[in-house]
Amino acid sequence: MIQKDLVIIGSGGAGIAASIYALRYRMDHVMIGDLAGGTLTTANLVENYPGYKSILGPDLVQKYVEHLEYLGGKITIDRVSKIEREGSDFIVTTGAEVYKTKTVIYTLGSSHKHLGAPGEEQFEGRGVSYCATCDGFFFRDKTIAVIGGGDSAATGALVLANLAKKTYMIVRKDYLKAEPIWVEQLTANPNVTIIYNTNVTEIKGTTKVEEVLLDKPYEGSNSLKLDGVFIEIGLTPNAQLAQTVGVEVDEGGYIKVGENMATNIPGFYAAGDVTTGSAKFMQLVTASSEGVIATYSVYKYLNSQGKLAHDMSPMK
Ligand code: NDP
Repeated sequence: MIQKDLVIIGSGGAGIAASIYALRYRMDHVMIGDLAGGTLTTANLVENYPGYKSILGPDLVQKYVEHLEYLGGKITIDRVSKIEREGSDFIVTTGAEVYKTKTVIYTLGSSHKHLGAPGEEQFEGRGVSYCATCDGFFFRDKTIAVIGGGDSAATGALVLANLAKKTYMIVRKDYLKAEPIWVEQLTANPNVTIIYNTNVTEIKGTTKVEEVLLDKPYEGSNSLKLDGVFIEIGLTPNAQLAQTVGVEVDEGGYIKVGENMATNIPGFYAAGDVTTGSAKFMQLVTASSEGVIATYSVYKYLNSQGKLAHDMSPMK
């Protein structure tokens, strides 16, 4: 069993930012994740992260990882299968190791919601995608639709509009809830047609996607012929593993945290899209801030209890 002061679970924006601060505080820690960058790898255009006017999600992930490695850090690629309490400590079991740690920062983020329409599962990877940046290239000069009306759908549609022959957005309300700056760009783009007040009821094809069925006729037909469907309808928090040690969640399944990112379990902190923090404004900049605050809180917690592995002067 490996002993640590801190185990950071998850390696998205919140986890990497937490680890960068833990490295600078010289805390004996490990960051465990199965994908560097988490959902940021599937982010489309990022144009609101201070310091970068416009950058693709995967390129920004690379910048985070470069910064981590510059400080001597790394992501331990592994998957956490179990968390248990042992006195005031935690036992974190992964595929490869068992860690005993005084504290945890839980940053498992969120997963893409599925539509639940017939054909969605059948055609995943054969015309159904949840990531415009990752899969857009395969739809060059094709006709595609993006489902959803939030920032993910808007940024996805803008990326795809540069590649595809024709891009539809299918939105269930009569407005887009995305940032106004994205709405302006979408409505000005001649390659994008927004179909409002409409739901996709089925995705159909033979070996790959060929059409979607709509609950309301569009140009006189309930069938829209296309080659690909990008489903960008929001996220659900991955809090289940934290709940196994008694961490409290709200009615939406988000981990309840205080302003110092502490949960109801002493020594167990959470950060990023999985929490109620930052007024649930889920941005990379807020997830990163929460990760940083969580590390600072862990540092103060360990110091106050004289529990740091290294000799540190107590903080006020
Ligand atoms: P959101 O929850 O913000 O939006 C989801 C959209 O999908 C809404 O338009 C919603 O409609 C629609 N929707 C939900 N369920 C269905 C369904 N079953 N059928 C059809 N439509 C559906 O999710 P996002 O993924 O867009 O964003 C999540 C968070 O990530 C937000 O905080 C966002 O700001 C952030 N983000 C930031 C980005 C950036 O800054 N670059 C990029 C992407 C995301 P309705 O309104 O009717 O519920």
